[in-house]
Amino acid sequence: MTTPHPEPIRLILGTRNAKKLRELAQLINPPWEQNPRLSRLALRSLEEWPDLPDVVEDAATFAGNARKKAGETARRLGLWVLADDSGLAVDALGGAPGVLSARYAGAHGDDEANNCKVLEALADVPDDRRGAAFVCALALADPSGVIRLEAEGACRGRITHAPRGANGFGYDPLFLIPEYHKTFGELSALVKHQLSHRARAFAHLRAGLDRLIVEGALDSRRPQTHERGLSQ
Ligand code: IMP
Repeated sequence: MTTPHPEPIRLILGTRNAKKLRELAQLINPPWEQNPRLSRLALRSLEEWPDLPDVVEDAATFAGNARKKAGETARRLGLWVLADDSGLAVDALGGAPGVLSARYAGAHGDDEANNCKVLEALADVPDDRRGAAFVCALALADPSGVIRLEAEGACRGRITHAPRGANGFGYDPLFLIPEYHKTFGELSALVKHQLSHRARAFAHLRAGLDRLIVEGALDSRRPQTHERGLSQ
């Protein structure tokens, strides 16, 4: 007897950052862990809602911002939303740029300027005090904006003296993984996906996501009127 082909489950990834989006999509159901339930997820990005206002990221923590992004976006769209808030915390800078990582040098998402500012701030700091962590907080909100799952992951490394490599995005060319003698900018996506803060956060989230799919929770969506072109 054949089982009917399961319906795809729509899940919105709450970001407009194309490179972050690609990582999220690869990590949600990685090829080395093929899970038939997670394979049902039909991922969509916020690019489909160009008029949706950006959520103001003013929380003091990555987890707070991830909750805010997921909750507000889900409520507006009436759909399930998974959001990521992430960044770099440098020991010698007291955890900066932290939640300001995307706009450390001023303009939002100017990776080159952000990287220059970190290197300048660490100009006189010796190698043994250049430790740093990438941190990623994930939050999944249901269509009414209630946070149903949360997870956090971190990855330790060291800040180089100059950018190295063109892979990845953001601060990747500055983030050295000492065991590999390479930055995330030099390592392949496959290696980054084994080690990264985002991979670790997903490792914590996946069982809960799988459980919600088994329970049929993600099949639900709130009846809503403003999926495209916001009315609120
Ligand atoms: P968000 O969109 O507010 O979460 O901003 C995240 C910012 O942190 C990005 O603009 C990057 O500068 C940085 N960031 C987060 N994750 C990574 C990563 O995996 N590699 C490099 N930079 C990252």
